[in-house]
Amino acid sequence: MKSLLIIDDSKAILNTIEYIVKLSGKYKTYTASSYKEAKELIEKHTFFAAIVDLNLPDCSEGEAVKLTTSHYIPSIVLTGSINSSLRNKIKQFPIVDYIVKEGEQSIFSSVFAAEALLNFEKEKVLLVEPHKDDALILKEYLQRLTFDVVMTDSAQSALRILKEDSQFKVIITEQNLPEMNGVHFIQNIKKIKFRRHPVIFAMSASNNIDEKLLLLKSGAQDFFVKPLILEEMYPKIANIIYMGEQEKKLDRYVRMIDKYVITSETDLNGNITHVSEAFCKISGYTQEVLIGRNHNIVRHPDMPNEIYQDLWETIQSGQVWDGEIKNLKKDGSYYWVSVNIEPIYDRNNIITAYRAIRQDITDKKHIERESLTDSMTDLYNRRYYNKLFPRLINSGLREKKPIGMIILDVDHFKLYNDNYGHQKGDDVLTAIGLTLINTCQRGHDTPFRMGGEEFAILSFNSNIKQIGALANKICQAIEGLKIVHEHNSASDFITASFGIVSTSSHNQLDMEQLYSEADKALYQAKNSGRNQVCCT
Ligand code: GH3
Ligand code: MG
Ligand code: MG
Repeated sequence: MKSLLIIDDSKAILNTIEYIVKLSGKYKTYTASSYKEAKELIEKHTFFAAIVDLNLPDCSEGEAVKLTTSHYIPSIVLTGSINSSLRNKIKQFPIVDYIVKEGEQSIFSSVFAAEALLNFEKEKVLLVEPHKDDALILKEYLQRLTFDVVMTDSAQSALRILKEDSQFKVIITEQNLPEMNGVHFIQNIKKIKFRRHPVIFAMSASNNIDEKLLLLKSGAQDFFVKPLILEEMYPKIANIIYMGEQEKKLDRYVRMIDKYVITSETDLNGNITHVSEAFCKISGYTQEVLIGRNHNIVRHPDMPNEIYQDLWETIQSGQVWDGEIKNLKKDGSYYWVSVNIEPIYDRNNIITAYRAIRQDITDKKHIERESLTDSMTDLYNRRYYNKLFPRLINSGLREKKPIGMIILDVDHFKLYNDNYGHQKGDDVLTAIGLTLINTCQRGHDTPFRMGGEEFAILSFNSNIKQIGALANKICQAIEGLKIVHEHNSASDFITASFGIVSTSSHNQLDMEQLYSEADKALYQAKNSGRNQVCCT
């Protein structure tokens, strides 16, 4: 880890700086409160920067600054006051910057100035300066800031250098160049493809507003008037580079979100205006295909209309909709997402678009589905029956629709097992499962294997007549499988007995009571000769 040296005889300042630095956690600090201590530390450690008090008890002529700069440690000087003679004295030292101690803000500034050097170290600067004297002063100064400086005196050669080497972080250019002026030069720089664009500063002896504006408009981030005041340059360069670093961080963050978070935005009609890379990946569509298309391109036919109705009503009324949705992939398969959709408002508080953030829950759904299904028949199991039944009863009450229920039990199945073997028995159960799936094609009928050779069907919006018709249909279909069962008293083939119930005739009953009624009816069917449907 890199280290920062702080030399100051004020305990308060040392403590404050140490505290600020700890917050950043990017580097270590060493503190010295005298020249002697500083000297010892410099002999032992290397420092990326030093914050140095001009006056210390054992030296009052800036010897500590001489010490750090002679060891090539980029130094930021702290001074109690400033006047022109002091400024001239400070400027004799090759320092990075100096800061007048005035309250806490100046302490922050000194730490910021030191930290900025972390972003500079060995970064390349291209200096385009035809005036030799200025070029040398600037080069020396930029090197002090730990930059790796490349110098040239013309725009043409600068462009050549930039095209060959795209690693430059900063370009500092004079406006009055021999072949083309700075504005033209900057416009040419902008045409070069960089992985990250360098920060451009312009310099000019004239302080002409038009010229300055043109430079800034063509892409210069800031402007220095000549004769250059070096201490004005450091904060400007440090600030702009710091902001660039922050932007890069933000950019990385945005890219990460794009890659890993399934997001989309639509207009008020549900037409897609933005999708993340993660959205494209999971749905199997490219961005080009998705943009402009309606969001229902990923709508899965399994999702009931009511869910979408609720979704639209919620977001159109300005609220956030949360839920789980099964979506359709381009290849016809599906994925489950947990979705959060919110309206986007304009300045006048009018909804202009909708934004959705999703999480892939396909695996969770698979596990959930596995725990709710019976592996032999692939039908839902009793656990799901227990989950679904109360929900159905509530929907039925809300929408004033009856709920029908069937329980069926294979006739003389023990005898079948005993005579044909357990494996054959399993085959019968599988065949019955398939028969149930095929006869319950209506989305409102859900078959279950309740355990053993007992099955059930829950049916939304079925009165006793309708549920009776469905049970009879299944009864015939099972016998119609023509699975020979010589020991069945009711038929030559495998058959089942049925008990049915509907809330249309038992309005007040809860789930347990309905089951018990259906079971009673089943018992009746068994007693009345099997292979038939009964109700109580
Ligand atoms: P009833 O007509 O009165 O229903 O007579 P039954 O023989 O079908 O009724 P009983 O409850 O006496 O026997 C049920 C049999 O179902 C006993 C058990 O061996 C068989 N069984 C339960 N689960 C399975 C299974 O998963 N596979 C097989 N092969 N048999 C099963
Ligand atoms: Mg039984
Ligand atoms: Mg049975």
